[in-house]
Amino acid sequence: MKEAVDLLVHNAGQVVTMGDEAGPRRGSAQSNLGLIANGAVAVKDGRIVAVGPDADIRSAFEAPAEQTVDADKGVVLPGFTDPHTHLLFSGTREHEFEMRCQGKTYMEIAAEGGGIRSSVRSFRTASDEAIVGQSLRRLDRMLSYGTTTVEVKSGYALSTEQELRALRLIDELDASHPCDLVPTFLGAHEFPDEHRADPEAYVRILTDEMLPRVAEETRARFCDVFCEKGVFDLEQTRRVVTKAQSLGLRLKLHADEFEPIGGAELAGELHATSADHLLASTDHGLEALRAGGVIAVCLPGTSFSLGKHVYARGRKMIEMGIPVALASDCNPGSSMVDSMPLVLALACLEIGLTPAEAVVGATVNSAYAVGEGDDRGRIAPGLRADLQILDAPSYVSLVYHLGGSHVRWVVKDGRLLDPTPPRRPSFRA
Ligand SMILES: [Zn+2]
Repeated sequence: MKEAVDLLVHNAGQVVTMGDEAGPRRGSAQSNLGLIANGAVAVKDGRIVAVGPDADIRSAFEAPAEQTVDADKGVVLPGFTDPHTHLLFSGTREHEFEMRCQGKTYMEIAAEGGGIRSSVRSFRTASDEAIVGQSLRRLDRMLSYGTTTVEVKSGYALSTEQELRALRLIDELDASHPCDLVPTFLGAHEFPDEHRADPEAYVRILTDEMLPRVAEETRARFCDVFCEKGVFDLEQTRRVVTKAQSLGLRLKLHADEFEPIGGAELAGELHATSADHLLASTDHGLEALRAGGVIAVCLPGTSFSLGKHVYARGRKMIEMGIPVALASDCNPGSSMVDSMPLVLALACLEIGLTPAEAVVGATVNSAYAVGEGDDRGRIAPGLRADLQILDAPSYVSLVYHLGGSHVRWVVKDGRLLDPTPPRRPSFRA
């Protein structure tokens, strides 16, 4: 007698399970994929019930015919977790891309009032409907590339009421889309125009007004700061994140993207969940991450989009034993990227990861980078049934066969989804 399940995915050429152990993968463990050749996966009540060789699973479980999916010798792997995005924004910044192509740098454009501050002006005046509508379309595209969990930061609002609004809109998006969203408070993304002359006043608003209300009134689990020369210096960053920690929020940091001003060291000292970017990190900074148990989130799509030819030292991080995760950094200025496979390819080609290390970086390690690693990011009994089924002979195809999506189906919470983005209203201005 076979056990009835809700969904059975069978005849997979490869099931990439990531193995049974909990915890972020570091060092040589970052290349352990727990591959099962000719495998199958059984799902019930939104959770994985069993995974193993096709014959074993098929003899033990059965699902209704329309919920029995033939993977046709393709690859089954966990849905990607994208652990660093600024997905909730209003309007795009194509003109800045043109300016960069003509030789201006990102920081020069920002200093002239473009960059983050131009997105803030747009966000503050846009309707909720427009912001959510545009963001839903971006989530649709992410899902079409196999992403099922997305960290989303506030930070284009930069006033107490507007930041609370941003976090509320992230909840609204989460409720309206199959992808799960993990909200992060990034009120310390930039100094808003009205506080440029007195940045200290804004830091006080962050610590005394915004953070207590964010902790009390929102679902935000993380606090992040853009710790960088010309933005939040090390001392201002420390004040914001220690206050956040005292209120029970976990920490992420934009650290060492352009200059090594001590962000990685601070992340290590405070045992942040992740430190992100890390292009300019020194050996000392990386050692602090290792010692503090911090996950390094690399965003090679940002370097690529900015045409920088400078990337985080991913190979070195893995050799040091730092868990490496990968993210899109999806944002309208420095990384208009929604494809995790592109990010994985860049991680292989530009930061020295192997395809296996990149896949681990976008699944199990990225799930831990958003505090969800015990719930998703692997294919193991009891975990959330978030899967992608690829029309590809090997997981290596993700980084080898570039430029499109290999996703044939997505499974989210045990539900079989067509990854083709639906037609939605554009909300163009
Ligand atoms: Zn960012």
